[in-house]
Amino acid sequence: MADETGRKSRTQEGAPAGHPVDLERMRASFARLMDIYRDISGTADKVATGRCPYKDSRSRCTAKFECRNQYFVPDKPGELAICTGSDKLDYRKAWVVD
Ligand code: SF4
Repeated sequence: MADETGRKSRTQEGAPAGHPVDLERMRASFARLMDIYRDISGTADKVATGRCPYKDSRSRCTAKFECRNQYFVPDKPGELAICTGSDKLDYRKAWVVD
């Protein structure tokens, strides 16, 4: 049923009138969504331990500090360095820190 502004009326739970909230379906949907987020988070955690967060999608280094894996192409000054690191080794050992 629409009110004078044309909006459809809603139940107290926020569902459109005539469409009551099915709490069990909603809980199941949230549980599925949480499983999906858990999977995404687990994959991101795994990737983050091998792939340096400063490496972009084109294997260029975006770090603002020195790293032994950086290779600056001599003919292209000002360009980002190419990352020569392996995603299978711990990248943090190549970082040059004080
Ligand atoms: S491993 Fe080093 S060179 Fe590669 S992206 Fe990370 S900081 Fe840059």
